[in-house]
Amino acid sequence: MWKKRYWRSLHFRIGDSEQSLVLTPRVLNHIARYQQFEPSSPEAGGQIFARFNKNQIRVELATGPRAADRRSRYGYTPNRSAEQFEIDAMHKRGLHFIGDWHTHPERVPHPSQSDVRSIREAFRQSKHHLNGFILLIAGTESFPVGLFLSLYFSGGEIAICSDS
Ligand SMILES: [Zn+2]
Repeated sequence: MWKKRYWRSLHFRIGDSEQSLVLTPRVLNHIARYQQFEPSSPEAGGQIFARFNKNQIRVELATGPRAADRRSRYGYTPNRSAEQFEIDAMHKRGLHFIGDWHTHPERVPHPSQSDVRSIREAFRQSKHHLNGFILLIAGTESFPVGLFLSLYFSGGEIAICSDS
């Protein structure tokens, strides 16, 4: 359960581009609720949805975890049909799917090889207008220190760094 509540947005830079990413308090608190503080807490995850405003990507919603997902201490496998249902439903509300989030039981999180493989795979297989998909991983440290964020596309990766 929550150790800390977030009242202000966190701002990030996407590589050396003009684009920035904003994580709103609603999204930070949703994810913080599932940080793996207890030895028994399983990984959790879901999808992140944003609105685009000029050069700013404003993440307004994080979904999941869902009852149909598979969760363990060191693993999280989302239910694919639930994901597609969310993408379609949010699109009608003007919220665009931009990537995935999940938790790790480590202080400052790092992506596993399979994390990177699956976000690249998702990017390749979907129809969209994005330059890449964002992978967000939450460790047990407070945010932004306890957050890993990166933009992945077929051939590479662009780092997303805290602006504060
Ligand atoms: Zn992972």
